[in-house]
Amino acid sequence: MKITFHGGAGGVTGSKHLIEHRGKKILLDCGFFQGRRSEARKLNSELPFDPSTIDVVVLSHAHLDHCGLLPLMVNLGFSGKIWSTPATKDVAQKMLKDSASIQESDYNYLKKNRIKGHETLAKPLYTRNDIPKTMRRFVTHDYVRNGGGWLEILSGVRLKFYDAGHILGSAVSVLDFRISKGKFRIGYTGDLGRRDVPLLYDPQYIRDRVDVLLCESTYGNRVHHTSEEADEKIIDAVKHVCANKSKLIVPAFSLGRTQAFVYTLHQLTDSGRIPRIPIYVDSPLAGRVTEVFKKYRDDYDLESRADFPRKGDVPLMFRNLKYTQSRDESMSLNQARGPMVIISASGMAEGGRVLHHLKHGLRAKKNLILFTGYQAENTLGRRLIEGARSVRIYGRTYTVNARIEKINELSAHADSEELSDYINHIHGLKKVFFVHGEKESARAVKKMMKKRLPLVQYHIPNRGDSYELLK
Ligand SMILES: [Zn+2]
Repeated sequence: MKITFHGGAGGVTGSKHLIEHRGKKILLDCGFFQGRRSEARKLNSELPFDPSTIDVVVLSHAHLDHCGLLPLMVNLGFSGKIWSTPATKDVAQKMLKDSASIQESDYNYLKKNRIKGHETLAKPLYTRNDIPKTMRRFVTHDYVRNGGGWLEILSGVRLKFYDAGHILGSAVSVLDFRISKGKFRIGYTGDLGRRDVPLLYDPQYIRDRVDVLLCESTYGNRVHHTSEEADEKIIDAVKHVCANKSKLIVPAFSLGRTQAFVYTLHQLTDSGRIPRIPIYVDSPLAGRVTEVFKKYRDDYDLESRADFPRKGDVPLMFRNLKYTQSRDESMSLNQARGPMVIISASGMAEGGRVLHHLKHGLRAKKNLILFTGYQAENTLGRRLIEGARSVRIYGRTYTVNARIEKINELSAHADSEELSDYINHIHGLKKVFFVHGEKESARAVKKMMKKRLPLVQYHIPNRGDSYELLK
């Protein structure tokens, strides 16, 4: 049995791990690479395997760095099944459609404006027309918690999903292979969430014996603060804009962070800790994702359901909150007077409607811009949190007078303590591969685990590395 790490190894994007056993090929995730444009483009357009030879895909969750290349795989001849949880299937459909339409509109914009040399660079990897045939490949299996047990996905290979607590639908997968001397099991955390975060269940420990674990390591070198500290920062920010009758602009990704933030605002408003001021979620994708949340009420954590006991009550809807859809509605917020909160994508302010809100909002000293997640190098978000006095948006320069703040406490990834605790709960472990992390954080959690479980072997694979698992 062989495993090859084709992406999400030695870095955080492009997750793709290929397991080959007795002539069968199982692919764990098929995500987009993100980062420097031309490099990512090259990696995304050249799949390192022939999709028509893959028997089955097991998908951990619907973030694009895990599912974004599935339509390309189908276009290139993949005809097997894609296994996911029911919620992941529904969310993936919205995410893939949105990704296709962004690729199409970028391409049309470049073509219309005849930006030389960029036409080929931006040619869509797939279009909205490719999404239905991709969705037809999906088949769903439920969490162990919801009654899903072992399920045979190929002859001699069974699958189980545990809740990963990262976003709605996210799963830790366990694959069970029948081998000549019994069973061999591989666990894959996908992206692992945190304990005690709004809206989601805690990550569920794997209850089965597992021989090999592929473990994410995004924050292997960090310890997060508690969500109470996030609450304090949010209360402070809302009070600031109330006192100044100004705007609180929150760049947030449409899936995950936006819902965590909205849920926190809902709780803080209901408990009277912040005044009831207008809140706008200005992201059509976030609105569509919220519809999926309504369908999967059982997949929120118990605390959320206790807070919202009535049928039809959704923690992501409340009186003073509005999901804007049209461009006109979005633009009318530019002229509107505060106090108000505007939550808009993208999270690193690299594109999307939030750019328009920043364009209109950065100049006023009274406004507050609150970043909610990791800000990668070379992004507008990173420049703002590093204190830039002026920034360029759509080719024009804007002075930055607004107050800039950030909170890391809403992170959707386990920190070093939580990762190590998770691994520590697994029985029979012989080998761990740390994936989905920069080198520094993977090394930090490896060092920690070597002390805790010294008999287990640890590896940090690079992209393209293969390992023999059964000799
Ligand atoms: Zn994720």
